[in-house]
Amino acid sequence: MYNVNSNVPAEFISHSEILETLKYAEQNKGNIFVIDSIIAKARLKKGISHREAAVLLECEISEKNAEIFALASKIKREIYGDRIVIFAPLYLSNYCVNSCLYCPYHVQNKIMPRIRLSQEQIRSEVAALQEMGHKRLALEMGEDPVNNPIDYLLESIETVYGVKHKNGDIRRVNVNIAATEEDDYRKLRNAGIGTYILFQETYHSESYKSLHPKGPKSNYDYHTSAMDRAMRAGIDDVGLGVLFGLELYRYEFAGLLMHAEHLEAAFGVGPHTISVPRIKDAGGINARDFGGISDEVFAKLVACIRIAVPYTGMIVSTRESVACRERVLELGISQISGGSNTNVGGYASNESDTSQFYIDDTRTLDEIVDWLIGLKYVPSFCTACYREGRTGERFMKLSKSGRISDRCSLNALITLKEYAEDYASRSTKRHAEELIQRELSDKAVLVDYLKRVENGDRDIRF
Ligand code: SF4
Repeated sequence: MYNVNSNVPAEFISHSEILETLKYAEQNKGNIFVIDSIIAKARLKKGISHREAAVLLECEISEKNAEIFALASKIKREIYGDRIVIFAPLYLSNYCVNSCLYCPYHVQNKIMPRIRLSQEQIRSEVAALQEMGHKRLALEMGEDPVNNPIDYLLESIETVYGVKHKNGDIRRVNVNIAATEEDDYRKLRNAGIGTYILFQETYHSESYKSLHPKGPKSNYDYHTSAMDRAMRAGIDDVGLGVLFGLELYRYEFAGLLMHAEHLEAAFGVGPHTISVPRIKDAGGINARDFGGISDEVFAKLVACIRIAVPYTGMIVSTRESVACRERVLELGISQISGGSNTNVGGYASNESDTSQFYIDDTRTLDEIVDWLIGLKYVPSFCTACYREGRTGERFMKLSKSGRISDRCSLNALITLKEYAEDYASRSTKRHAEELIQRELSDKAVLVDYLKRVENGDRDIRF
């Protein structure tokens, strides 16, 4: 199953091209003519190349940086509207045979208890998540062919989709597992997953080797070419990401955009999402040992990714503080996790620390929904694209043309209504109702749908 020798070199990430890109960015960081022409191109909302984006990231002219941030916000609003999609991670198992230096699940960690959830425990976890109001999950587990084989994951996906607790229903299961073979990706596609997510961690191959000294994940090419295998197997929604703070962030930024460009060129579909995790403390892991990046650099990275790849969904997790999340929501983030627990089995019971990273935003889902409403966003539990087959190229066409925001705004309101009816606290419900009323003026179809939800109809496919 884990044939780590079966890959071809991931030549689409070229070390020399990244170095050239960084040189070009350094040379042009104060060149107003070049920066203005890149900004003008970016205003067309068709994206810009990794070289152009690297110049914007490097730009040190404060008035141009203000333009870059304003443009990122504008693109975000025009393509994604005000909605923010909410999801939660669900950790199935922390068994892992790899030795990633930044992750407490590494095989040498003999202190952390190892847990793999039974199907019964998964049912309890999902019921607890449904009790909060979640509709969309990201399944997470370490790489271990003996303890976490693909069949375990497939059974778990079926279990998650099968739990119907009260009005609850998980409608989209995204999966974040180690790089694997095409056959396994085909099985995941047939199991009905939403997005296949795999973080590159670092695109710098030498750094990658030292951070992953042992285990199947130590093969840089195999890991880097995983999305190609997933897409060849028919998974058309894939999620990229790097662990910012592990290597020179400018290098990672260029590598990430080159990866997105490669997928678009090779498959006609770029990444469905880009995540921007930053390294955080966890049991036995001290983030400061790896360098790290400031909040200001982090915000600039988000803005420049949004400008470079306007169509992609962007994700920030509860690793980040409330203040930081608020800032990057404005600059490009379209999806956030909320009410998360990163312990294996942590939603139904919280007996031991098996957390992959410590979270900063510890608020409940209800508090997060209310916070988003207060910030004038529309919290969305919508999964309609996936359920209606608007994935891959179909989704990209809508997203690139800016028409996704029309559909999503409507769907977001309906799912917010559903959340308000079934799960919200009294004050969140009131705020959600006020928001929905404000949006209602010319949307007769929506009025009808909302009445149906109020009358208990949960068969509307969102
Ligand atoms: S990052 Fe993933 S592969 Fe590496 S030790 Fe952690 S769980 Fe295992």
